[in-house]
Amino acid sequence: MSQFWSPLVRMLTPYVPGEQPKVNNLIKLNTNENPYPPSPAVIKAMHAVTADSLRLYPDPDSSQLKQTLADYHGMDTNQIFVGNGSDEVLAFAFMALLKHDAPLLFPDITYSFYPVYARLFGIDYVEVPLNDQMEIDTADYLGRDCGAIIFPNPNAPTGIPLALSAIEDLLIKQPNSVIVVDEAYVDFGAESAITLTQRYPNLLVVRTFSKSRSLAGLRVGFAVGNKELIDGMERVKNSFNSYPMDRLAVAGAIASYQDEDYFQKMLQAVITTRENTTQALQQLGFSVLPSCTNFVFAKHPAFSADKLAAGLRERAIIVRHFKHPRIDQYLRISIGTNEECDKLIAALRQLTA
Ligand SMILES: *Cc1c(COP(=O)(O)O)cnc(C)c1O
Repeated sequence: MSQFWSPLVRMLTPYVPGEQPKVNNLIKLNTNENPYPPSPAVIKAMHAVTADSLRLYPDPDSSQLKQTLADYHGMDTNQIFVGNGSDEVLAFAFMALLKHDAPLLFPDITYSFYPVYARLFGIDYVEVPLNDQMEIDTADYLGRDCGAIIFPNPNAPTGIPLALSAIEDLLIKQPNSVIVVDEAYVDFGAESAITLTQRYPNLLVVRTFSKSRSLAGLRVGFAVGNKELIDGMERVKNSFNSYPMDRLAVAGAIASYQDEDYFQKMLQAVITTRENTTQALQQLGFSVLPSCTNFVFAKHPAFSADKLAAGLRERAIIVRHFKHPRIDQYLRISIGTNEECDKLIAALRQLTA
């Protein structure tokens, strides 16, 4: 605390990401990174960005990347916003679209950046409890005074998806609220709401290259929505930093979308390992929430999550444990390679013996 801090800074509680350990020999299953490298085409495209072009500012509109995303998802470029990771895209959405007189609604158990941004941007918010099955029930968001709604689909850290019909129902019944669907994990098996943006002017869908496209280190994310929503976000972006996407990120991101075969193969690998890991955890007595993501959320009836996480760490495996009420008995385990998940199961077998 310093006398020079503004009142806003004094009241912030910054987001705490999962640990990025400085040692190499750990099995890192704590931040939902993809265990596989990005497509070789991505590396090649980034190599091709020459010293000559790095000298120059990037295109302030990232037009080529927007065109690639628009073509792939069947949209117009003016329906796409791009940024440095979806965290930045979300920040622009919070500033441009989520601050209203009525509060912002989001689940009580969800991505913990939402309350951090709400406080930073001075947005009133209300946390809506998940139901007893740890699911988002859209009925709980109806008939309430709210300026906007945000949730991930599938939700994090539970991994449970919401049906597209439930999202559409919410869009119809809350036509005056912006609804942001954060699809960080959607590629791993949930239904995307992107096509609904053509019909619902109040829907913004946010995506990232960090999880399914193995590019967490590159920092690329985007949003899809009605042109007016995107214009609102561009106005904020161009009042803050008009050159957010660097040339390397743009080249790598475009190349990732051009290698569909590799993308599908890696997705399938992660999904297969997720299903096998879920079964193996269940055989050890864990209850595992039904996941459509690249992680599982699991608890054991007889062993505390705290002790299991500590035991795994002693065996050089790190997973995420949130010390929040309702979920403090769960471990969030990112899906690694088959070999990594085999080691995880072997360690948990010892710890639960
Ligand atoms: C990982 C994650 C993000 C952030 O992804 P970046 O694009 O790497 O910033 C956003 N939302 C959810 C729910 C996530 O899990």
